[in-house]
This record gives sequence, C-alpha cells and structure tokens, in this order.
Amino acid sequence: MIPRELDLCVTNKCNMNCLYCYAAGKNLENKSLTLEEMKKAVLMYFEAALSEKRKIDKISVSGGEPLTHWDAVSRFILWFSKHTPQDVNAEIFTNGLLLDKDKAKLILDNGFKLRISFDGLKKTHDASRVSVSGKSSFDGFMKNFNSFPLSLKKRCEVVPIVSERNVADMADNMKFLMDLGFACVKPSFVLDEVWKKQSFKILTRQFDLLKELLKKQKKYSLKFEKIALKNLSGGLKEFSASNEISVGTDGWFYPSSLISASVAAKSEAFKKRYRVGNINRGIDTEKFGKLRESAFKDIKKSKAELYLGCLLCMHYSSKVKKVDFEKLLLSGDQIAKITAASGLGEISS
Ligand code: SF4
Repeated sequence: MIPRELDLCVTNKCNMNCLYCYAAGKNLENKSLTLEEMKKAVLMYFEAALSEKRKIDKISVSGGEPLTHWDAVSRFILWFSKHTPQDVNAEIFTNGLLLDKDKAKLILDNGFKLRISFDGLKKTHDASRVSVSGKSSFDGFMKNFNSFPLSLKKRCEVVPIVSERNVADMADNMKFLMDLGFACVKPSFVLDEVWKKQSFKILTRQFDLLKELLKKQKKYSLKFEKIALKNLSGGLKEFSASNEISVGTDGWFYPSSLISASVAAKSEAFKKRYRVGNINRGIDTEKFGKLRESAFKDIKKSKAELYLGCLLCMHYSSKVKKVDFEKLLLSGDQIAKITAASGLGEISS
C-alpha cells in the first residue's frame, strides 16, 4: 500500500525555534538530503505508486527550513519540473525568513506552490514563532514580503497555525493576512494540544466574527480556504491511501512527516519501529499498510466522530510526546465540529 503523497524532509536545519514545532527548530544535527538523494526518493516513490496504479496527488518539500538548503533545493525544483509528470502537484513550505524575490520566482515559475508558515499579527506571530537569532521573525518575514511586487505576492499562499494560545485573535489574524495580498489563506490547527472548555467558546465567537468579515467583503471570501476536516467515512482503504509517506534526512521512509522530522523521535529504537524502507533499498509497502491499519484501529477506538485534517500527525505526535491520544482526539473532535458548524470547514473522507 502506498499513499497519494510524498513528503521530502530535505533538511532538519532551521533558523527558527517555534513553540509548537515537532521538527527541526530544536534539532541541532543539521542533516540534509543531497540533491541525488532527493531525486532517488522521488523516483522510488513514483515507481511504487505506478506498480500499485496509485494516483499521485502531491510532492511536498519540507524540513526544517528548506531554504537553509537552497543550493540543493533549487536544483531539485528545476529537475522536478523537467522530469516529472505535469499533473503531479508540488509544494514547498517555508517560514519566509530567507525568502527573496528571486527564490520565490524560481519556485513559482517551476510549478511549485509556495506555502508560507506565518501566523498573522506581530504579537501572535512572534509569540509562537521564535527566531534563532532572537530578532522578531515577524519583522524578518515582512521585510522580505514587502519587497515583492503585488503580482508576486498574489502567487504566494499563507498557512497560519491556530492554537489555544492565539485563538482569541483568530479573526483579526485572518483579516490581517487576507489584507497582505496573499493568493489564499489556509489556516490549520496545532496538532498536539488538548484545549480547555472556555477555549471552545472563544473559537465559536471567533468563527462568528470571521464569517461576518467574509460575508461583508467578497475579496476576503475569495482568499479564505476552508479548514480541512475528516470523518473517515471512506474506511481503512481510503485512510491508508491518504496523507503522505515521508522521507527523512537519514534516507529512510516513515509513515508520517512527524516521525521523519521529529526531534523527539530521534531515538534509534523508535525510528526503527516505524521505518518503511530506504532510498537505497526500496519502500516496504507491506509494513506501511500495517502501520496505517494499526493507526486506523487506534483512532476508531475513540468516541470522536469528526477529526482535524492532520489526524495522522496527531496519532504519531501522541506516540512521540506520549500525549493521551483519546484526549487529543476528543479535543480535536470539538474543534472540528465547531469549525464544521461555522461553514468554514471542508469535510473529506
Ligand atoms: S515549525 Fe518550521 S519554521 Fe518553526 S522551528 Fe519548526 S521547522 Fe522551523
């Protein structure tokens, strides 16, 4: 069994140290994939997908911060755009601190979506997204983004994270981001928090404010992308094909980017348990299928009925951080139901 998406964790270097980061921010190993390793991983994944007649949805380039590894990443983007089928979507995630006009143009002109992790107003962004240099990461990104012509800004997408810490400012943050000129604003929720009761009330109020805003201003409603939710109505088969297989900087494949990039999952024994192949030896699709099945069973034991889109990340996060999975799912269930009731969520199977 092979899923529809491949994630390439190209480096675990990062110039930030975000509070909710599971990845590179706190990882000082500074390991990266070489260009040849990135190509190998992609070709190996394509071959496995082809042998299962699996339609490929997407290739993601993530990290750590991919732009700290720009030499290899830029060459990978050029190679990918020339040597892979045009109907495969490709995207790169960045915190934007090293993003300039030329890099943005190279990424976008070669068919990659440019997704920027940026949470909104200065007080929100800087509170969670801490730069390694100690300078404001909000100021760092805004300086870069403000130098872009509007035509380039309109091609970039922003992915803000809503957490219990910033939910009270959610509508203001979304408005701020929609005004900045991005092509679209695609929020998602932090994946390993169990929210307190009063936070759900705040979320409901914030969705009301956001809905008002989107109703009043057509230009906003065109930019807001609905929040991904899941109901698992497609059963194990759909669940197994969903989300990604991820290759880490060690050249091993894992069932989720949370494990391949995770600081907490550095233990060799932990990683060994979840390895599903290697870029030199091939992908172990049978083990991948078994891990998906076991995750599905764990999720279905819960009383939760609706889930946040990053369900697999939640599953593996609970294992890495030893958070109570049932509590996490029930908290996610509440958030997902409030989101769905607001009309600003999109449920898939
Ligand atoms: S969330 Fe992204 S930008 Fe922030 S520390 Fe982690 S890898 Fe770096």
